Amino acid sequence: MSDRVIRILTIDDEENIRTSFRLYLEDFDYEVIEAKNGREGLELFAREKPDLVLCDLRMPGIDGLEVLSKIREESPETPIIVASGTGVISDAIEAIRRGAWNYLLKPIQDLSVLKHAIDQALERARLIRENRAYQERLEDEVISRTEDLQLAMDDLNKTHQQIKMSEIRYRSIYENLQDVYFEIQLDGEIRELSPSIKQISAYSCDELIGKSVWQFYPRNDDREQLIAALKRQNIVTDYELHLRDKGGKIIPCSINARLLPEEDGRPATICGTLRDISERKLAEAHIERLAYYDALTDLPNRRLLIDRLERDLARARRHKHFGAMLFLDLDRFKNINDSLGHHVGDALLQEVAKRLTSDMRLEDTVSRLGGDEFIMLLSDMGKEPSNAASQTQTKAEQVQKNLSKPYKVLGHDLHITPSIGVALFPSDDDPNEDSNDILRHADTAMYRAKDDGRDAIRFFLPSMQAAADQRLGIEKDLRFALDRQEMSLFFQPQVDREGRIVGAETLLRWLHPEKGYISPADFIPVAEATGLILPIGLWVLEMSCRQIKSWNDQGIPIGHLAVNVSPRQFRQPNFIRQIQQVINKTGADADQLGLELTEGMVIDNIGDTIEKMQALKKMGIELSIDDFGTGYSSLAYLKRLPLDIIKIDQSFVRDIQTDESNASIVATIISMAHHLGLKVIAEGVETDYEYDFLNQRDCGGYQGYYFSRPVPEKDFTTLLKADKSLPFTEG
Ligand code: C2E
Ligand code: CA
Ligand code: CA
Repeated sequence: MSDRVIRILTIDDEENIRTSFRLYLEDFDYEVIEAKNGREGLELFAREKPDLVLCDLRMPGIDGLEVLSKIREESPETPIIVASGTGVISDAIEAIRRGAWNYLLKPIQDLSVLKHAIDQALERARLIRENRAYQERLEDEVISRTEDLQLAMDDLNKTHQQIKMSEIRYRSIYENLQDVYFEIQLDGEIRELSPSIKQISAYSCDELIGKSVWQFYPRNDDREQLIAALKRQNIVTDYELHLRDKGGKIIPCSINARLLPEEDGRPATICGTLRDISERKLAEAHIERLAYYDALTDLPNRRLLIDRLERDLARARRHKHFGAMLFLDLDRFKNINDSLGHHVGDALLQEVAKRLTSDMRLEDTVSRLGGDEFIMLLSDMGKEPSNAASQTQTKAEQVQKNLSKPYKVLGHDLHITPSIGVALFPSDDDPNEDSNDILRHADTAMYRAKDDGRDAIRFFLPSMQAAADQRLGIEKDLRFALDRQEMSLFFQPQVDREGRIVGAETLLRWLHPEKGYISPADFIPVAEATGLILPIGLWVLEMSCRQIKSWNDQGIPIGHLAVNVSPRQFRQPNFIRQIQQVINKTGADADQLGLELTEGMVIDNIGDTIEKMQALKKMGIELSIDDFGTGYSSLAYLKRLPLDIIKIDQSFVRDIQTDESNASIVATIISMAHHLGLKVIAEGVETDYEYDFLNQRDCGGYQGYYFSRPVPEKDFTTLLKADKSLPFTEG
């Protein structure tokens, strides 16, 4: 301010006063602006913004008081000094009231009074300004401090909020923690427990805090061991122990804990978390069960069986007594599965498992190996070999009888028989015999039981092993049989009611270079199991078609030739195309070709089967169901299939004379088949009696030794050429 010229506005209607003021003040380097009346004064004030105003009171127009008020309004801090000729005190009071800073009486004799008043006013204005600036700074400061404070407060609030949240969170974790948080003094006094103790123990926190923990240990040394472990390593993790809950139930628990040593008067304390591991224990037990038990029947599985077998074998050797293994396989179980569905099969297996365990001794083991194979392990059958054998035989018969009783499963009346193979152990000729040998022996004996017509009990004999080995040999040799031209076809005539040949069935023969003829019954299953049936089956088809063509070309009348088709062959996706190709290639007439399918294979994946059968039918091929009656499918079910013929299984025919119920089954099959418009061929007809019986029941077709055995092509051609009724009778 000091480097700036101070400007003073004088408002007075008397020119000489204005001039005298100006002249005087200019000597002090003040700049003086003059206004000759109130209006001009206000204008100049607004425009020039002077630092100080010297104003007269009595003026024409707007008078001094009014000017005073206006300036005050506009700029409260500009100092105004009133210089007035009226010595009226009320004027002075009024002027001061309206904001004049000083009041000088005119005429001013000594102008230094004016100077003094001006300086005083300016100084005061400066002070006020400074003060206000200071005030403003102060306010700014306060504001900024307040802001800082607010920020700090906000921060604090936030932190507080966070602490509160984390407290809430911690609380809720603490309260909802499945694990129990605990603090327990070394002497056993419970200091702290989180609420989840209630879920585990049925006690509330209040019931426990302050009490001794000892009472919750079923055994005191459990806790002593825990403390010992803590003292040793200071910390335990996944430490398992048992506690007793409010109802007295023992709960398996796992503990993570730490030992806090005595400190500042606080006693040594164990703190940590406790978890109820009942569920985990159950799951472990379950897994354990799955590892050693069969899920379907709950019987020991192969693994556990081997364990027990090894135990029994060692014991038998030690005590010089015999143990026995019964290997059971259910006859034709697959038929039940195929025709009635797996759920029925499964339910039946469970039923079988029940019967097997029902009359078992405590020391025995019944196990399921999988599928329909069961093992019964009998320990200690005596020291004397023949006695042990007869005792085992009795037991096996009992099991056989028990399993053969009718079953009622999911609304089905089922009947099933077991084939049982028996192996006694230890065998005296092999001191190195192990559990696998015993299993293999029993298995081999079981196969013998099956081969002997099923529903049988067979003991393992060393000669049987030779047969089993032979089976392996067959498999090896079968691979080369076609290439080495060891295979040939035989033909068995099929005749009508008068014995006239209407066709034949192709039957495969294998002439092994060393073993001679091997029955298809022996090698077809092996071929089927190894996949060799595919090239072999194709070969049979091709040869059969060639044969049809050849007989036709020679003018020999063959009605039709039926070829056996194995399940694996039929299930090939390109089976239909294969047949078509064979027919095209050989030039055979498809109308003369027949295919024999089995119940099991047509019921498997019925949609695909029907499609294939329809395609075959469209080609003109005749379709028959082989071995009818051994499966579970009903005639009504087969009605859905585009069939021409059913072949009644040999086993029914064979029993006609002796088994009345079989006789009536055969009669029923024939009449129902006719009802459905199907032809019937009876297989395995061997006697006059059987032929007569069937003939009387209106059976249309026959096949069997009574008419002819399967014969080589040359012999069959001779039969055809003879054009006579079978059987040929002497004379
Ligand atoms: P299958 O289809 O039931 O054939 C009938 C079997 O019964 C034949 O045995 C036949 O020789 C025999 N047989 C015929 N009449 C009588 C009789 O009056 N009494 C007795 N006891 N048996 C009779 P084979 O030739 O040993 O064939 C056994 C099985 O081998 C056949 O049973 C068939 O399932 C299968 N098989 C034979 N050739 C082939 C083939 O080329 N392909 C396929 N996939 N399987 C074949
Ligand atoms: Ca057949
Ligand atoms: Ca058959």
